[in-house]
Order: sequence, then C-alpha cells, then structure tokens
Amino acid sequence: MRALSILSLGALGLLACDSGLSQTSANSDMNLTTISPNNDNSSQTTKKPLVNVVAVGDVMMGSNFPNVGFLPPNDGKDSFAHVLPYLKGDVVFGNLEGTITDDGISTKCPPEPKPTVTPPVSQTDKTDNVAKTSEKPRTCYAFRMPVRYAKTIKDAGFNVMSIANNHVGDFGDVGRKSTMTALDNVGIHYAGLLTKPTTIFEKDGIRYGFVAFAPNVGTVNINDLDNAKKLVKALDKKVDIVIVSFHGGAEGAEHVRVPKTTEIYLNEKRGDVYAFSHGVIDVGADVVIGHGPHVTRGVELYKNRFIAYSLGNFNTYGAFNVRGLNGIAPILNLTLTNTGEFLTADVTSTKQSKDKGLELDPTHQAYNELKRLTALDFADTDLVFNSQKIVKK
Ligand SMILES: [Zn+2]
Repeated sequence: MRALSILSLGALGLLACDSGLSQTSANSDMNLTTISPNNDNSSQTTKKPLVNVVAVGDVMMGSNFPNVGFLPPNDGKDSFAHVLPYLKGDVVFGNLEGTITDDGISTKCPPEPKPTVTPPVSQTDKTDNVAKTSEKPRTCYAFRMPVRYAKTIKDAGFNVMSIANNHVGDFGDVGRKSTMTALDNVGIHYAGLLTKPTTIFEKDGIRYGFVAFAPNVGTVNINDLDNAKKLVKALDKKVDIVIVSFHGGAEGAEHVRVPKTTEIYLNEKRGDVYAFSHGVIDVGADVVIGHGPHVTRGVELYKNRFIAYSLGNFNTYGAFNVRGLNGIAPILNLTLTNTGEFLTADVTSTKQSKDKGLELDPTHQAYNELKRLTALDFADTDLVFNSQKIVKK
C-alpha cells in the first residue's frame, strides 16, 4: 500500500512508545529525509517490477569487552570476505546481535581482574587503549563492537538491521544510543527499540517499511501481537513492502523445530513465532525474518508471503558456540514482486569455525537443514526445494 500523505509518516514512530517520545520523533523525522516528496505520487512513478531482499541471521563481528581478546583477526576487515558477492540486493538485512559502542560498562559481567603481567608493547591494541594479554579471554555475553565496525558492516552490503534482541541493552542507554548513532552515520536503516520501533525508506521508487520485535527490555514486544499488528498495519498504509523481523524462540540445537505455541526458554517468554508470523502477515506484512535460536529453522509460505523462522548464527565471533548446527547458516536471497509477493529464494549455505571464521559451505548444510525442517514443520506449504533454490509449488 502507498502513503496518503508524506506528512502522516511522522506519527508512525509514536505508536508503540511508552517512553522517549521526543527522541522517537526526532529519529522518525531523520529517516524521512531519505524520502523525496516528488515520489509520493506512486501511480506515476515507474517502479522496478521485482526486488531482492537478502537476509541473514545474527551478526556480531567481535567485542572489545571484556577485553580485546574477543576482537576478530585483522580488526574484522576480512570478516565477510567469503560472502561479499552474496550480500547484494535492494535490501540486505541482518540482526545486529550486540551494541556498537566504544564506551559503556556492562553489568552483565563482573569487572575483569587486572592482568598480573604487563604485556609487551607489540601485544597492545593502542586503538582500544586496552592491553591484550595472552590470557584466554573470559566468557562474557556482553557484546561491544567498536564504532569503526559499523562501516565494515555497511561496506559488506548491509542496509537494514534489527536492533531488537537480547544484546542491544548490554551496555544500557549508552550502548543503545551509540549503536543508533553509529548506524545512522554509515546509513544503515534500523528499528526494534521502543524509542525506534519502525523505519521507512525508499529505494528505486519502492518504499519499504521495517519493524523488529523481541521479548527483551526496551524492544518492541514479540509477545504483544495486538501492538505488532497495529505497527504493521500502519506501515502497510504507507509503503509497498513491509519487512518484519523477530528475535524469538528457544535457543540451540535442541530447538530447531517450530513448536507452534509460545516458547519458554530460560524462564523468558520467547514468543509464539508461528502465530506471530501469521498474525502480522494477516495485516499486511510481506516478509517475516526470524532469528534468535542460533540455529536454522524451517521456512513457510503463508498467503503468498515468505516466513523464515530462524536464520541462525551468520557472523558471530568470539564467545558464541559455532559447533554443529550452531555453526551453519543460510543467506537467503528472496525475489519478490514490488508488492511483496514471494517468487523465489536462492539459498547460499555458510559455515563458521573458531579458526577460519565465516566461509561458504560447499556441502550446503544450511540449505539441507532448511529443506529438512520445512518438510517436518510445514509439509503442506507451497514451496519446493531444488538445487539451492526455493520456488512456489
Ligand atoms: Zn540473541
């Protein structure tokens, strides 16, 4: 659907907010600067007939907290090297599974004990002003990507990211604000916080609306389907293609199936991702992209709209478990009509290992897993898997 008036867009960001209204307004206005009023008369704009939405799961390039021992080799410059040709599309999406900030202390992890031995200068990372000791880094699930990594993520091809997840709050408001500023500064669209629930942008005459959900503090709640529907409906009135992201479902290799009920994990309600995905499509969502379980889950076509229930760990360096199913993930390249109907998906399988990082997987494990799980959970869905491609029956 298209906008009735460009002026109405400013109200969109306010729908789900219970705090930070002035900041939300400012952010919404800022995003509107990418939309030209000249394109508002949609019926006279020539739109490209097909669009490509590329989607991956979790992205956390490495953390300088609790120490720089969690940063990737060559400061992350090669982190996406093997997959760059596949991160090209009108929309290239990932879930930013951490903060982007050079500051901030996390309460998630106790203070690190002082190193007993002063490392030689050659082992000192001057950029971070933190001594890199030869000690094995402690495991700490608070993720702080250096601000300079935002450009690396942008240069890899990403232009849309979810910041609704269990790590965006790892460094409190300092981290949230710095993450948003860093993404703004490199031109990556984002959404998912109560202070920034949605975003709208235009590319090649097509308007996209993006909204992201999670069960976590400060994020737009995946467990509140009524509110989710309101947000999606409002977007659908203003844009051609509505993309919905969720960070939901239980985690790990034991939880690759979609249970079609509310999932409880670590005493948290992690959403009923099946009901949620259908619910948002019922009111206008065109693509639903799930992540959070750290493993791949099945896919489904519902009302001609594509749902990926979990895209797994795509590029997750450091403390993440990348063994077995946790270390394989698909890159989906969806071809849609310019109104969001699904046509095809190309699946590129990737894998991660502690020693080699992110690589292509010539054995296509992620594709095979998508195919296997889709047959188990969505046997009747109108999709066929064939030679690394998913097409309509
Ligand atoms: Zn997560």
